Amino acid sequence: MHLARFPRFALGHFPTPLEKMPRLSAALGGPTIWIKRDDCTGLATGGNKTRKLEFLVADALQQGADTLVTQGATQSNHVRQTAAAAHIAGMKCRALLERRVTTMPASYESTGNVLLDDILDCPYEFRERGLDMNAEGQALAERLRATGAKPYFIPGGGSNAIGALGYVSCAYELVAQADQMGLRIDRIVHATGSAGTQAGLVAGLHAINAPIDVLGVSVRAKRTAQIDSVHRLAVATCELLGARGTLERDRVEVIDEHVGAGYGQAGAETVAAIRQVARTEAILLDPVYSAKGMAGLIAQVRAGTFSKSDNIVFLHTGGASALFAYEALLAEPRSADGSTGH
Ligand SMILES: *Cc1c(COP(=O)(O)O)cnc(C)c1O
Repeated sequence: MHLARFPRFALGHFPTPLEKMPRLSAALGGPTIWIKRDDCTGLATGGNKTRKLEFLVADALQQGADTLVTQGATQSNHVRQTAAAAHIAGMKCRALLERRVTTMPASYESTGNVLLDDILDCPYEFRERGLDMNAEGQALAERLRATGAKPYFIPGGGSNAIGALGYVSCAYELVAQADQMGLRIDRIVHATGSAGTQAGLVAGLHAINAPIDVLGVSVRAKRTAQIDSVHRLAVATCELLGARGTLERDRVEVIDEHVGAGYGQAGAETVAAIRQVARTEAILLDPVYSAKGMAGLIAQVRAGTFSKSDNIVFLHTGGASALFAYEALLAEPRSADGSTGH
């Protein structure tokens, strides 16, 4: 499948590295774990939305748009990367932030990714949780249109078929890297939210007939609902690509045991995954997505799902900018003089 048929606007550093995690693999005593560093895409601290935005921004420019409009949760990595992409493309950006997490201190709405939105000069408005945020975003776009702007609405997470082409590109890139290294990939594992990442990977692997299983670790939805949304979007992406053959629903694998108390809420298991990966590989995961994905991978290793000779690729989707908003959960205890003695 020829991806260069689709307009693309360069925003990131590609290919991202594919590296071994020797210390984590040894600590877990299971398969060999590899990491695909999509946290290193480079766009204002990077992350998985960069690949999607390369196709979405190109489409926006082709339509003559001058303002990107999008939405996400308060600590959205997608909003931050969209705000950054707008500058490179010479556009404005406007965002809506959903107060999806209600259990955090007030600084949750000003630090981490929100601070980066400020630095990137992206005006945002908050919305209370539970609204149809894509409808809210589209309404904002229409209000901007009425004032003479030319808005381009990007759905939450950049997850439509155009955005998912970004993860078709990742599937091609990963398979090419593995082939060059002589590496047989047995499974890809990553955090799944708005579904575009997994849908693009599954569609891309289907299109090049590389039957590698992709396990999505849900950060929000129940398993069946998440499989439905990933499969629906993967089928739409295959149609856009012109990939032949039916993409069966059983190509989409999701587990939902690592959501914890809910989207954006990090429990003990999530914190443990952040610490273990930082203290073995010196790689920073995030509390909303990638650490839940890693917790899922670790649990599968412990459950004996993989054989020792397997090569498992963890797709690091980014998000470490949100760590600062989770100080209350992650800081070590201090003594009276401010020192930590753990
Ligand atoms: C958005 C996001 C995801 C989830 O990707 P989807 O395409 O929305 O499923 C995973 N990790 C991070 C850090 C993200 O920002």
